[in-house]
Amino acid sequence: MTEMADVTIVGGGPIGLFGLYCAGLHHLKARLVERLDRLGGQLEHLYPEKPIYDVGGFPSITGRDLVERLKQQAFQYPAEIMTGLEATDLRPGDNGWNLLTPGGTLPTRTVIITAGIGEFIPRRYQNPAIDAYEGQGLYYVVQELDDFTDQRVLVVGGGDSAADWTMAVAARARHVTMIHRRSGFQCHVDSLAKLETHPRVTLMPNRSLVRVVGEGRVEGAILSDGEGRELPEVFDVQRIIVAIGLIPGTALFRNWNLDMQGDAIAVNTDMSTNLSGVYAAGDMAAYPGKVKLIATGFGEVATAVEAVKEHLGR
Ligand SMILES: Cc1cc2nc3c(=O)[nH]c(=O)nc-3n(C[C@H](O)[C@H](O)[C@H](O)COP(=O)(O)OP(=O)(O)OC[C@H]3O[C@@H](n4cnc5c(N)ncnc54)[C@H](O)[C@@H]3O)c2cc1C
Repeated sequence: MTEMADVTIVGGGPIGLFGLYCAGLHHLKARLVERLDRLGGQLEHLYPEKPIYDVGGFPSITGRDLVERLKQQAFQYPAEIMTGLEATDLRPGDNGWNLLTPGGTLPTRTVIITAGIGEFIPRRYQNPAIDAYEGQGLYYVVQELDDFTDQRVLVVGGGDSAADWTMAVAARARHVTMIHRRSGFQCHVDSLAKLETHPRVTLMPNRSLVRVVGEGRVEGAILSDGEGRELPEVFDVQRIIVAIGLIPGTALFRNWNLDMQGDAIAVNTDMSTNLSGVYAAGDMAAYPGKVKLIATGFGEVATAVEAVKEHLGR
């Protein structure tokens, strides 16, 4: 019979890991359940080598290095870490909750859900003329920046991820062109200012990727203009990064009787949900004015752990 935990954290991304540290700090009997085999969430699985510039105290740190530091911080305290195990349901139990997993039922007095965006599903074009090149010079997920050394690179997307990839790749690529289908880029003004003056970056608004050209590998791209008119020349690139967003995979949580707001769980100011003893933090938590950043998630999960303590009467 699995022992009752004071708090079970669902999701071992950056926010779950920091939550584990906070729980340890208060000597709570903590457990963490992560569906993937490795901890670290989006940082570990979607951008291990990309620099992060907006976490307090780190002018620049890669996704993987931040995860390593979060693990070091969290593992100072004893806790039960269960990786490769998905939390599939949550049912009321004696003196708390039962978290259901394919490996058995985990009894717990409280739960903090830090499941991010659930599964990580990059938004793909769903167009064979483009998607067929994934792994052949076209990337929806970048694992190694070395792949771009001395290459001519096209980055598709106008948001922060696209801007961050453009900047990261520009440090080693021959040239990077960032295209966006709209007339303006939506990334941070500072990123835009840096990209506009970067000697190896060209920004092209009003451009879309129509199809990839090449014999089994990316050798060029056909683009269209803001009116959707195909441009006659083949754009000379060897690598394409498509950063057009992620599809949230949070449907599972709709069956847990939680009040949802879009793809996330509605929370109060103490991160409590509509279920007593159940809290949410990080990308999975929704409230007016929410900003989905690592920095905001850290504060939210620290707040959630304080609320857990209160709930447990500690
Ligand atoms: C390309 C890219 C670049 C980014 N750059 C930045 C940046 O520079 N700065 C910044 O602040 N933010 C950035 N972000 C956003 C940032 O990564 C997220 O805000 C952050 O990862 C949220 O952390 P989290 O722990 O809430 O969720 P996640 O990182 O999504 O982690 C959630 C974890 O929960 C697990 N999980 C999900 N469902 C279950 C379940 N049912 N059972 C068990 N485990 C489950 C998942 O497998 C995952 O490991 C970026 C995002 C992307 C995609």
